[in-house]
Amino acid sequence: MNGTLPLRPELVGEVPYGAPQLDVPVMLNVNENPYPPSEATIVDMAAAVADAARTLNRYPDRDALDLRADLAAYLSVDGGVPLGVDEVWAANGSNEVMLQLLLAFGGPGRTAVSFAPTYSMYPEYARDSHTTWVLGRRRDDFGIDLPHTLDVIAEHQPSVVLLASPNNPTGTALELADVEAILAAAPGVVVVDEAYGEFRRAGVPSALSLLPNQPRLVVSRTMSKAFALAGGRLGYLAASRAVVDAVRIVRLPYHLSSVTQAVARVALAHAGEMLAAVDELRAERDRTYDWLRSRGLQAAPSDANFVFFGAFPDRHAVWQGLLDRGVLIRETGPDGWLRVSIGTPAEMAAFRAALLEVLQ
Ligand code: PMP
Repeated sequence: MNGTLPLRPELVGEVPYGAPQLDVPVMLNVNENPYPPSEATIVDMAAAVADAARTLNRYPDRDALDLRADLAAYLSVDGGVPLGVDEVWAANGSNEVMLQLLLAFGGPGRTAVSFAPTYSMYPEYARDSHTTWVLGRRRDDFGIDLPHTLDVIAEHQPSVVLLASPNNPTGTALELADVEAILAAAPGVVVVDEAYGEFRRAGVPSALSLLPNQPRLVVSRTMSKAFALAGGRLGYLAASRAVVDAVRIVRLPYHLSSVTQAVARVALAHAGEMLAAVDELRAERDRTYDWLRSRGLQAAPSDANFVFFGAFPDRHAVWQGLLDRGVLIRETGPDGWLRVSIGTPAEMAAFRAALLEVLQ
């Protein structure tokens, strides 16, 4: 018990999730997009917010139908398969989307599984929805170990499988054949978390293409990364209509504010410009990977907007040395490894210069 408060026993001693929010010149720690919206986008967002303000005395569209139609149109192009508004759902960040999935499909007596190293919020969704949490492992190269994965699924019969692709913190994308094999073996829903999907390298497919034949597949996306809208809080999923209907049961009424809906629609209307910056970030990511390797370090091939690298006997010392030089990256994942988000060319130059000094 926390004093006299009846805190749930499993929350005693727990701390809120989150990377340190430090004020340093070069912030490469939470996989944000370093490019803010353009002036034209800002002007349109301001107008859309002013418009939304006129009716802020009213609740927002509970079902966010206009926004979901825009998201469906965007995903239909990106994934190459047509999606209807009933097959898309939106919430405050993909964090909320995935919590809603666990609320609908997890729960007491049920199990969710994932494979480490992976996104550290997954166990929190399970804890908060009273779902038993089982963590398998990935291969040493951070790819999915399919025989082990199928064994874990056979043993635990999870109602939810969570797979990040590209994976955080490693940047590793899943093979579609593996997703299909997992879907065939899993009794419940399989969530492919494509928060970084737009950053995948040419020729790497999205699990969106599997949706037409897979009613238990959920593809989760976010506008926080490719659309440079981390502050706007808009995540979404694509799945069968039955999945969307299930999630609608557990969502809070009016969970998505009219301001959020309006801002997200403007960002989507400017998709061309937003995604041009993604191409620059992908190129900078590949240059960062090549540079790290050229310095004799290990780096995991990345389909995301970050690179996972190492291995350092004392990674904390490297992290601290970079911070002392004004560069904040993330200390996460297997011991010895660090994750750097891809920033502007100037920020990456600062990162390289600082790392050279630290490693001297
Ligand atoms: N999934 C993965 C793999 C992530 O790395 C993140 C953010 N770091 C999220 C989901 C959640 O992002 P958001 O809630 O901003 O959509």
